[in-house]
Amino acid sequence: MLRSNTQSARLLTRSSVLAVAISLGAPPVSGYQLVRGPDFVWAPELRPVGYWVANAGNHWLTVDQVVTETRAAFDTWQESEHMGLSFSYRGTTDQRPFDFFDGTNTVGFSSRERMSQLGLSEVTLAVTSWLSVIGRDVIAEADILVNPAYNWTDVVDSGFWDLRATLVHEAGHFLGLGHSGVGRVGERGLVEGSSVMWPYTFGRGSSLGRTLTADDVTGAAVLYPGPGAPTGRIHGIVHRASGELVRYAHVVAFEPLRDHTVGAWADGEGNFEIAGLPDGQYLLRVNPIPAHHSDGAYFFPYGRVDRDFSVTVVAQLVLVSGGQATEINIEVLP
Ligand SMILES: [Zn+2]
Repeated sequence: MLRSNTQSARLLTRSSVLAVAISLGAPPVSGYQLVRGPDFVWAPELRPVGYWVANAGNHWLTVDQVVTETRAAFDTWQESEHMGLSFSYRGTTDQRPFDFFDGTNTVGFSSRERMSQLGLSEVTLAVTSWLSVIGRDVIAEADILVNPAYNWTDVVDSGFWDLRATLVHEAGHFLGLGHSGVGRVGERGLVEGSSVMWPYTFGRGSSLGRTLTADDVTGAAVLYPGPGAPTGRIHGIVHRASGELVRYAHVVAFEPLRDHTVGAWADGEGNFEIAGLPDGQYLLRVNPIPAHHSDGAYFFPYGRVDRDFSVTVVAQLVLVSGGQATEINIEVLP
């Protein structure tokens, strides 16, 4: 399962997102998520965004190995196409992750005692927190904490927990992304093509989470558009035949020629927008939140998500051209 929490301090607010070690269900696809909207990004004056690695290894990996994997995870995002945010590795630090308000964006292991002090579950793989200035909703500080109880590895497909894959997911949160529903689920769990921002892990021994998908890359580029980032978008509302709006539906755009799958979540009033799309003809599909996923896994308010409709495919292809917006209202099947 996944939990999130928000705490406030006098000047800063904190929120956390967790990735945990449970793989669930046979969910359909959906899309990237801007956890607090397109404006929740790193404060411009803090870019390029520095990060440090905590000066504490764990039973399985040395600090040097953790540094290598952390840098590779941040580089994975920085090098993604159309991403306009840079990171800067600043060295190791004696600060610990989740020492808040220390001005140090720290990545590293925590102790089990500390995890329990923070109220984190034993099944949590890793957690990312953000601090933002009240009244100015931008990211001012972020930390990534890794659970030392797992047997971590830096070796691909070794049968142990892939630290880099986990850090790629957390680095996605670090830059402001929430959870994606683009999951391709086989008999034994997630398979290739699933977003690294899927809320649950690919599983022990899998290194699939090291590779970003179109959905992940699009989410990052929507938050931080770099040169040449696509600007096309599809937007509208999701509703029932009666006209009633459908809350928190998944809307997915699939462009078959380039096998490009990007999605987004409708809000609590049925409005959706899939941004960052290259020109093309898109097949649109709407589905409810995966049956076994909690509302909280996607940061939706509990009990407000409409789940009682069928997967719906829009009958005609939707054209995005000239980097412009296309509006379409979608009626879902009962
Ligand atoms: Zn997560």
